Amino acid sequence: MRLSQFHLRTVKETPADAEIASHQLMLKAGMLRKLAAGLYTWSPLGLRVLRKVEAVVREEMDRSGAIELLMPTIQPQELWEETGRWEKFGGQLLKIRDRKEAGYCYGPTAEEVITDFARNELASYKQLPVNFYNIQTKFRDEIRPRFGVMRAREFLMKDAYSFHLDDDSLAAEYRNMYDAYGRIFTRLGLKFRAVFADTGAIGGSASHEFHVLADSGEDSIAWSDGSDYAANVELAEALAPGQRPAAAEAMRKVETPVQKTCEDVAALLGIPLARTVKSVALMGDEGTGFVLALVRGDHVVNEIKLAKLQGLAGYRLATEDEIRAHLGSEPGFLGPVAPKQAITVIADRSVAAMADFVVGANAPGFHLAGVNWGRDLPEPALVADIRNVVAGDPSPDGKGTLALARGIEVGHVFALGDRYSRAMGCTVLDAGGKATHPLMGCYGIGVSRIVAAAIEQNHDANGIVWPQAMAPWQVAVCVINPKGDAAVEEAADTLYRELGAAGIEAVLDDRGLRPGAMFADIELIGIPHRVVVSGRGLEAGTFEYRARSATESENLDRATLLARLT
Ligand code: ATP
Ligand code: MG
Ligand code: MG
Ligand code: MG
Repeated sequence: MRLSQFHLRTVKETPADAEIASHQLMLKAGMLRKLAAGLYTWSPLGLRVLRKVEAVVREEMDRSGAIELLMPTIQPQELWEETGRWEKFGGQLLKIRDRKEAGYCYGPTAEEVITDFARNELASYKQLPVNFYNIQTKFRDEIRPRFGVMRAREFLMKDAYSFHLDDDSLAAEYRNMYDAYGRIFTRLGLKFRAVFADTGAIGGSASHEFHVLADSGEDSIAWSDGSDYAANVELAEALAPGQRPAAAEAMRKVETPVQKTCEDVAALLGIPLARTVKSVALMGDEGTGFVLALVRGDHVVNEIKLAKLQGLAGYRLATEDEIRAHLGSEPGFLGPVAPKQAITVIADRSVAAMADFVVGANAPGFHLAGVNWGRDLPEPALVADIRNVVAGDPSPDGKGTLALARGIEVGHVFALGDRYSRAMGCTVLDAGGKATHPLMGCYGIGVSRIVAAAIEQNHDANGIVWPQAMAPWQVAVCVINPKGDAAVEEAADTLYRELGAAGIEAVLDDRGLRPGAMFADIELIGIPHRVVVSGRGLEAGTFEYRARSATESENLDRATLLARLT
């Protein structure tokens, strides 16, 4: 690329409304232009970087065995009604109408669409397991879009959805995706951590987030220096370590009655149980079983919230009528009452007993049989209350001490279970010819957010310092006085073409800017290697070379330079 024929438009002043470094630098470098709140145009320069990230994500997804497809951004209301999310997803869902007044949304995620695809495409266990992904624009009407593309309303996401016949298969793919994500963020040159996470509005039973470490991150994460323990501090599944043995004892006592109650209620409501309730019917989320619930007003909370409630004042158990009313509104679907609140079933016991019960709920072995997805992953054996920890506190698993950092969520993997396949009547025939709801996992990566997150981690006073894999070009060949000196122009051109022939992406800065302004631009936009071609250098038989991360330049002859760059 010759910069004289490209559109590069940098800005000197730091934009007043940009609060964090990545937002400021993306605007100054001319990668982004704001159209409206949370909506951005990616300039030709910005797009080059976005495409680099996309390519790494695509390569590693393909390597992992996932299969790419492309789903629409606009999704019909009816699909979202099947899962109950049309009402429950909340204000982030942008609802629109066409000329016939039919309802649609701009997809914030695509569980409904992929499950619709799957119910039409998948018929037999022989087609499973399968993992479909797409890299597609999403829209979420964020309450507070900010930090540029870090928290935009329209953004680019890689989202993958896998389908499985059994828990083991889902667990294996969850692990496969977890590993693929590790490769992606490593290749992109980012410092990151995978942490145990809340399952949020998407639901599910196991979940890990991948965070790029940066002080401007909106999340707080903690990890142990002596074990694999790592968690998002916002994590609601808080367990005070000291209480655990008593709670485990309480769990054992209530095991049988709870199981019976769940089955009774299922029979009462005419709903098939998602799976056999084997140990204790206290499980994270929808569709994989029942969850015990407390109610205050019309606010139903699951055990995840319960653990947070400490005193439990003002809460009571859900009644059968309430549960029936809720389930009745959505036949066959055990959906969340609202984001982060799961459904509900009942045990005839006191709030005090519940409190004990709840404290042990997230310990290994206290889940529905076969739904410990992801539990062989490096995650805490025990999810502890780390909301008030400070660095240096003992790790909740007793191994080592905690370190704390701010993180930017760039990826998220979930084991979903059959929540969506069940709600949407997606079945396949198993080996015995019996129709069964496939289990699902879903796996997201914020492709556009990664660009901003990378800058948060890699910049200095002069601008962006791209990790190699994300740089718009690897080498900038800067020509001093191109129009004034034919020999310099020709030498630069030759070098530029040689680099291209060697498979190195180079950009020729032939704009004729004065050296200071040219170098400032090249530094600002973060090109890893800069080569200056000048009359003086040609006379000495050298090129001036400087790595973006270095403070000194070196004069190298052609052979040494090419060896350095190739
Ligand atoms: P957050 O906690 O930051 O709001 P999320 O948990 O709502 O993110 P997911 O539903 O897990 O997001 O979506 C998958 C990925 O999409 C996230 O890990 C994140 O990298 C990216 N993402 C989500 N919301 C946005 C946004 N508003 N702008 C840019 N990227 C986003
Ligand atoms: Mg969000
Ligand atoms: Mg999140
Ligand atoms: Mg998330």
